[in-house]
Amino acid sequence: MTIEPASVQYADFEQLGVGNGISEGRPPNDREYQTMGLKYHTVIFVPHARARFRKWRVTNRQIHVATTVALFLLAASLFTTWSFFTNSIDRHELELVAAENEDLREINRSFESSIGALQKQLAEFEDQTRQLAIVAGLDSFSPASDAGIGGLSSPGMLELDPDAAIENLGDRAANLSDALRAVGWNLDERERVISSTPSIAPVKGILTSGYGYRRDPITGGSAAHWAIDIAAAPGQSVQATADGVVVRAERVGGLGNAVYVAHGYGITTRYGHLAKITVKAGDRVSQRDPIGIVGSTGRSTGYHLHYEVRVDGKPENPRAYILDGTRAGS
Ligand SMILES: [Zn+2]
Repeated sequence: MTIEPASVQYADFEQLGVGNGISEGRPPNDREYQTMGLKYHTVIFVPHARARFRKWRVTNRQIHVATTVALFLLAASLFTTWSFFTNSIDRHELELVAAENEDLREINRSFESSIGALQKQLAEFEDQTRQLAIVAGLDSFSPASDAGIGGLSSPGMLELDPDAAIENLGDRAANLSDALRAVGWNLDERERVISSTPSIAPVKGILTSGYGYRRDPITGGSAAHWAIDIAAAPGQSVQATADGVVVRAERVGGLGNAVYVAHGYGITTRYGHLAKITVKAGDRVSQRDPIGIVGSTGRSTGYHLHYEVRVDGKPENPRAYILDGTRAGS
């Protein structure tokens, strides 16, 4: 061992104010020499107010440790700061996503409840349509199935397949629309048949001659009479017994002044012995429209209306076609 390094270190101390610690003017002891492999630095604090100064002797190793710790603390604080901001951004995004999710959930809930209300309403329409179909004489109305659509039993759950639900509603609505059209058409048709079917008395009066074979009022012999005769006051109005079109309005042999009305569906009515005809061929008439005045023209023995109903050209008993309270005769 030599003391050369000590003197060098001492010189450092002299020049720089820092030393290796072997600086008290005494030779370093063995233990201190053993540690001379490490460099020492002395930090001197000189307070302005006092003459005395303080010094700390620190090893390189201590400086390294302190520097490492300081760097570590700096890095840690930087990381903490960075992660704080990063986390707060993440948190903000998370809140946005959560809010958005809640909004979507709400939209989904209201969508499901709307679909549910529509399905319920549609089911009611289907019920009513089924009843109307029966009234309209349609064989059957079978609503489009709503099978395969789940979820409505547990509102709020995401079991409903929106596309399938809407598609199903569309199918059912289309089916319902077709059925209602058929019902409407059938009801219209039925109404046409009803309003085209004679169902009232053509005039108020007394039935003087019935339908079938009878004694001829003029010749006294047996004769067929495929009509009814209703005695009525002269001047009384004769009305069409159903909707139809006037096909003949003129003097017709023994019937005198006569009006023929075609009602469609093969049904025609004939009115005879009129004093006056108030319609002309081609006129469209509704049930109860006046067509003439009671008279005694043609082969007649007194004021009365001769009334016939024919279906497909064949006479039928007109009394079967007088359904209102106005009983003509007996
Ligand atoms: Zn007659």
